[in-house]
Amino acid sequence: MIVEPKVKGFICTTAHPEGCKESVRRQIAYCKEKGMTEGPKKVLVIGASTGYGLASRIAVTYGYGADTIGVSFEKEATGKRTATAGWYNTKAFEQFATEDGYYAKSFNGDGFSREMKQQVIETIKKDWGKADMVVYSMAAPRRTLADGTMVSSVLKTVGTEFTNKTIDLRNNEITEVTVPVATEEEIRKTVQVMGGEDWEEWIREMVKADVLSDHAITIAYSYIGPSVTHAIYKDGSIGQAKKHLYDTSVKLTKEFADRDIKAYISVNKALVTQSSAAIPIVPLYISLLYKIMKEEGLHEGCIEQMQRLFTDKLVKKEVDEAGYFRLDDWELQDKVQDKINAVWDKVTTENIGEYGDIDGYWDDFYKMFGFHYDNVDYSADVEI
Ligand code: NAD
Repeated sequence: MIVEPKVKGFICTTAHPEGCKESVRRQIAYCKEKGMTEGPKKVLVIGASTGYGLASRIAVTYGYGADTIGVSFEKEATGKRTATAGWYNTKAFEQFATEDGYYAKSFNGDGFSREMKQQVIETIKKDWGKADMVVYSMAAPRRTLADGTMVSSVLKTVGTEFTNKTIDLRNNEITEVTVPVATEEEIRKTVQVMGGEDWEEWIREMVKADVLSDHAITIAYSYIGPSVTHAIYKDGSIGQAKKHLYDTSVKLTKEFADRDIKAYISVNKALVTQSSAAIPIVPLYISLLYKIMKEEGLHEGCIEQMQRLFTDKLVKKEVDEAGYFRLDDWELQDKVQDKINAVWDKVTTENIGEYGDIDGYWDDFYKMFGFHYDNVDYSADVEI
């Protein structure tokens, strides 16, 4: 089948198997070139198929020489419908890692569920005995709770509505968006989906089953960002979930202090991923950020960020006063943010090409689904 991109707003409904494989191949090549360091050897990655989780899995495999188990929720191909990018990424990763002599097993299903947790725990018990690191990189729009009820997260503000510029990803037009206020119930549900409850459950279940080693590390991801996005992110409904995630890290570290199990949060850079494309205002901010960070020679993608996290910051235990790893250190530098502030009010549909890296944004977007690689023949028939 010839696979072409089918973009609808902030999502692409097709994915290219060969392009996804190329994306994984390039991320592995980057880490191989950067070299190895001492680190955990049995790593569970929850949310391992795309974005920061996939990059984490690659970074620990090729940065520590770690064996990995990955959990993700992706769709297989059916009939003429391609699989999701994460499904192809996972297949490609397993193939490369196995060829390079690493253990790489993947589970596809609902990471929130008890069944998935039990299946993974059984596998760790049988194949490894114990894991020494757990990366929690799940980003989900909804969660089915243990009693079967489904809760959804929202991307809204807290307290007062917020109006600001955004980019309409259907036509690259700069428009205004008013983000509505989340109700108490919506906030509570957002926290249930994107907060630390499920992360805590994973760690608790693993400790109970004795499959997490003493001195193990667990790490989850957060975002803070500059003031222009605070109303929608840091202080918005998603930000409340991220506060809960942080509180969970403190709670876990305290509770398992006798075993020296440490829970960390890494605050990562804003990047184009399937999750961030869905947030109002953020894609416009990202396109301005990309332009400036590329000009300053500071730009990083998921793999550069995760390679830096695992082989540098985490090794040195370089955290800020609150205990966060700050991978947003380059993004939040004054010289970057001052330039964004200087153009934010000026940016319009007509000049976005001058002030923002809209081509870079879209190039990353297509690449997430396996398109736009110059060495992939998109006119060729592929097995989906
Ligand atoms: P992503 O959409 O690329 O990845 C999400 C992952 O979660 C995928 O592997 C997906 O399969 C998995 N997943 C979703 N629902 C699942 C379920 N029910 N069961 C099992 N797996 C499931 O997202 P991302 O942007 O890489 O986000 C990962 C983390 O990084 C999130 O905590 C996010 O908030 C954080 N983060 C993202 C950014 C950014 O700009 N993208 C910045 C900082 C922090």
